[in-house]
Amino acid sequence: MRRYHAAVGTWAELRTEALACTRCALAAGRTQVVFGVGDPAADLMFVGEGPGREEDLAGEPFVGRSGKLLDKLVHQELGLDRSRCYIANVVKCRPPGNRDPLPDEIAACRPYLEAQIELIDPAVVVTLGNFATRLLLDTAEGIRRLRGRSYPFRSGHLVPTYHPAAALRGGAEVVAEMRADLVRAKRLLAGAPA
Ligand code: URA
Repeated sequence: MRRYHAAVGTWAELRTEALACTRCALAAGRTQVVFGVGDPAADLMFVGEGPGREEDLAGEPFVGRSGKLLDKLVHQELGLDRSRCYIANVVKCRPPGNRDPLPDEIAACRPYLEAQIELIDPAVVVTLGNFATRLLLDTAEGIRRLRGRSYPFRSGHLVPTYHPAAALRGGAEVVAEMRADLVRAKRLLAGAPA
C-alpha cells in the first residue's frame, strides 16, 4: 500500500487525519471537512479553491453551480464522470462567507493536498483558478497568463484553467477556453503532446 509520508500513512489514515483537523481557524466554522471525491487511483485530478456553502453541507467538492458546470464540461470534453477522476481543493474547510482562503490557511492545509497528489500520483493535474494554479506552480502570475499550455509537474503534467465560477461569470468565451484546456488534458492523458 502506498504511503504519503515515510512515517505516516495510507489514504485512509490521511483522510481520518484531515477529517479531524484543527490546524487553522477554518475548523471552527465548518460543518464538515471536504476532503475530496472520486477515485484515489485516477490518472486525472482536479484541484479547486475551497468549499462553498453547498460543499460544506454536502461534504463533497463542487456540488453547487460551479460543480454542475465542471461535471458537464468534463463529461463533454473527456467523457468522464467524477467517479473516474479525483477532485480536491486547496483548502478543505469553507472560508466564512466564501471569502478567499488566507495564506496561513492555505499553508496549514497544504500537506493534505500534497499528500493527496503524492498518493494519487496522477498523470495530469488540472488546476481550477488562481489559488490552485499559483500554489502548485509556485508563481504569483495570474490564470489568464498561465493557462493555454501545460507544465511539467511531478511525474506528469499540470494544465491550468479557469475556476468554473469564473466561467459562469465570464460567459461563452471563458467556457470555450476552459474546454480547450480540458482537451489539452485529454491529449496528455492519451500520451500525446499538448
Ligand atoms: N469552488 C471550489 O473551488 N471548490 C469547491 O469545492 C466548490 C466551489
